[in-house]
Amino acid sequence: MHPDFKPHGVKVKPRSVNNIRGLALMYRRLLFKCEDNKSLNVVKSLEIILGKLGVVLIIKTMEEMGNCEAAASPDTLELLIREDVYDALHNNDGRARFTICHEIGHLTLHENIALARANNGGHKIFEDSEWQANTFASELLMPFNICKTINSAIQVQIMYQTSYEASAYRLMKLESEKPTKALANVGSI
Ligand SMILES: [Zn+2]
Repeated sequence: MHPDFKPHGVKVKPRSVNNIRGLALMYRRLLFKCEDNKSLNVVKSLEIILGKLGVVLIIKTMEEMGNCEAAASPDTLELLIREDVYDALHNNDGRARFTICHEIGHLTLHENIALARANNGGHKIFEDSEWQANTFASELLMPFNICKTINSAIQVQIMYQTSYEASAYRLMKLESEKPTKALANVGSI
C-alpha cells in the first residue's frame, strides 16, 4: 500500500490496472450486488456469497498464524484468517476489510499458484501477486468512477469504511491516472 511499493510477491501472469478494475467491478456489482456509492458488506460477501461458491473460511489463533494476518489458498478455495483480524472485520475495521479483500483478490486472480511469501525478485510490478491483490482490494472497496469525483480522503474513508491510509493512496493513484494533468503542465511551460 505504500507509494514506494516494490514487487515483493511471486511472479504471476501480468495484469493491468484496467483488467483488475474490470474484474473487481464485476464482482462488486454482479456477485456482491453492491451499488457503486455504497460501502461493500465484506462479511456478507465473504461468509454468505463466496461461502455458497465453495470458499472455506478457517479462523486461526494468534499462536498459529503469528505475523500473518490472513492467507489464501486459491487451489483449495481456503481462506485462513487470524482471529483478531476476523473480529476486527466484524467491527468494520478498515484495515481488516482491506486485508480480506486482498485475499479475495488472490482467490480471484491467482488460481493454481502457490503463494509463497518468498521474494523471487526479477519481475515487474504488473506481474506481482501482492501488487495485483492490493489493486483488486482497492478497486473492490473504492469504485474508481465515484472516487475520481472525490477530493477528500476522509470522505472516501467514511463512504467506504476504509482506512485513511488506503483512502489517501486510492485518491493519489487516481490523480496520477488523469491525463489532463500532464497535458496542462506541458501547456504551462
Ligand atoms: Zn497477499
